[in-house]
Amino acid sequence: VSFGYEDIPATEKTARVGHVFSNVARNYDRMNDAMSGGMHRLWKDQFVARVKPREGEYILDMAGGTGDIAFRMAKSGAAITVADINAEMLAVGIDRAATRGIDGLVWTEANAEKLVFPDRSFDAYTIAFGIRNVTDIPAALREAHRVLKFGGRFFCLEFSTTVWPGFGDVYDAYSHRLVPKLGQMIAGDADSYRYLIESIRRFPDMPKFEGMIRDAGFARTKVEPILGGLVAIHSGWKI
Ligand code: SAM
Repeated sequence: VSFGYEDIPATEKTARVGHVFSNVARNYDRMNDAMSGGMHRLWKDQFVARVKPREGEYILDMAGGTGDIAFRMAKSGAAITVADINAEMLAVGIDRAATRGIDGLVWTEANAEKLVFPDRSFDAYTIAFGIRNVTDIPAALREAHRVLKFGGRFFCLEFSTTVWPGFGDVYDAYSHRLVPKLGQMIAGDADSYRYLIESIRRFPDMPKFEGMIRDAGFARTKVEPILGGLVAIHSGWKI
């Protein structure tokens, strides 16, 4: 099996991404720690600090997977809906929430490209390490805009392209050589991790992605690079 190295039709990408996350769901959290040296926790803390969730707000955590972002936001008392296309990732999240004694989250299976929520339902929309897996990214961004209230905020945490000289090469070498090996060792699955790395390489750079967010109707868009843009927080407002 091979993922992502060849150009695949859009219809097939969704199915393949589904297969990848079903394969990795049970090992997903351990792999994140192993691959990022625990740094994904800091990036997620920083992300939620930017979102500033507040009690009484309705927040949609799209591609919420096993709940890392939702758990952090739940402390605020905001009403959080975790949506993900993959039932296996959600099932792991529901188990983790029970173990941690976090209740009150709404878990729902949904494709970011086509949401069933009515217009203007949420005060904030978050998507962490999710958007690059979506087949039709402009459609997902338009849906994010639609389900936000006026004055609502959009936040995306995603791998991007670092502009630090030399760092990108080191990261490329690390990710292409080591990550599939880690995937094999920890999750018994090198192919899924090859796909994940390739999807990072193919994702639009910061200015381009910011432009896509603007094209979806968002205003006052902003990019906050982390490690020179290895990871980035993109945000925008619906006004
Ligand atoms: N947000 C979580 C986190 O930061 O740990 C999970 C991120 S995980 C790398 C990516 C998630 O995106 C997976 O759970 C996957 O099922 C989900 N996903 C992929 N395509 C999607 C889509 N079209 N709609 C909704 N979720 C999607």
